[in-house]
Amino acid sequence: MMLIVTPVALFAGIVTAFNEALGAFGRVKEVLSLPTEHDPAEPAGDQSLDRGAGRAFEFRGAGFVYPGSAEGEWALRGVDLAVPTGGVTAIVGPSGAGKSTLFGLMERFYDLAEGELRFFGRNVDTLPRDRVRAHLAYVEQDAPALAGTVRENLLLGRHDADDAACIEALRRSNLLFLAERPADLLDLEIGENGILLSGGERQRLAIARALLSDADVLLLDEATSNLDSNNEHSLQKAIDEAGRDRTVVVIAHRLATVRHAGNIIVVEDGRVVGQGDHPVLMRSNALYRELVERQQLDPVG
Ligand code: ATP
Repeated sequence: MMLIVTPVALFAGIVTAFNEALGAFGRVKEVLSLPTEHDPAEPAGDQSLDRGAGRAFEFRGAGFVYPGSAEGEWALRGVDLAVPTGGVTAIVGPSGAGKSTLFGLMERFYDLAEGELRFFGRNVDTLPRDRVRAHLAYVEQDAPALAGTVRENLLLGRHDADDAACIEALRRSNLLFLAERPADLLDLEIGENGILLSGGERQRLAIARALLSDADVLLLDEATSNLDSNNEHSLQKAIDEAGRDRTVVVIAHRLATVRHAGNIIVVEDGRVVGQGDHPVLMRSNALYRELVERQQLDPVG
């Protein structure tokens, strides 16, 4: 039998392979282990998002307990926070503070136990989960990449992106230096799981993929592993670039990459203990100051 491979089938094949590659990563396992989702029966009525709401996400009096945790073991409690539309919002705090949990709630993997989460002005309980997720691009730590070329990896973000759009996304993600000519970069083979790139470059390739997609909101979990200062600077620039035309939320492990963020949220023990920009938090927030001092950053920014 002759097999005709259409571009769409080919793309679907790439996506399947990519999903299989993703399968090795914790979050997918975490999601698969969740109880079956109860999506609110396709909520009736107006589901339009309010782009003028000025807030991509807003938590109001939010509390959350992980499924299977003891009653009263709050992972988050009494959380009020806003992620303004556009620009960069950073979430910082010690290990176990609740940063990833906030992402899991934004991605609609879980429901709140109390309070409310709004997405572009709408209570998420009135929106199908997929509808929220369709607006999000998630770039994880140790972002996965496929064996193949840079172009093939980018087209996962938008399968009909032309070379000019791919090159622009690579420019914004500070990856153009990888080849002498941008056109050569698109054909560069990056090896099994992108092994020929550094961890920082793989994460920026994932940012480039997200920039090509339609997602309004980019959720980025910055890698905990050490980046050299070039990669750190490149990541900071890529985050700022992404914030120019969409909303970026970053879990920041290195404060240097986000100290210019317009909005920094400080979490500790499942609570928000500060929100503001770097100078405001340096003046007003003891935990933030401590985190900055621990990383030996220039306190002035
Ligand atoms: P890190 O910087 O180490 O990634 P974090 O700030 O992202 O930490 P979370 O992972 O959100 O913190 O964890 C918040 C709290 O929820 C912690 O007490 C953690 O032990 C708990 N927790 C996280 N994931 C689960 C889970 N799947 N089941 C039960 N409890 C969890």
